Amino acid sequence: MQYPSELCRNNLHPAQDKNSSGQCRLCSLATDRTYKAKQRAALELVRALEARGVHVDIESLALSENPTASAQQAADRIVSEFGDIE
Ligand SMILES: [Zn+2]
Repeated sequence: MQYPSELCRNNLHPAQDKNSSGQCRLCSLATDRTYKAKQRAALELVRALEARGVHVDIESLALSENPTASAQQAADRIVSEFGDIE
């Protein structure tokens, strides 16, 4: 059993296991993985809609028949808007 002072900010990992910017290396990795998984899911959604002729407007996030951006841009926009939802 370790003391909290020896753990990272999220009390999950050894505090000395930091990357160059002082963040917990393992927590950063986990966040990055989660973000990439969300991005992948959003891109799949956008592509599935596009296959049916439906596009996501990256300004309003409304659905439209006319593409206003690439699938990747639409996916990035969705993640930045809704990415905090777990
Ligand atoms: Zn950590």
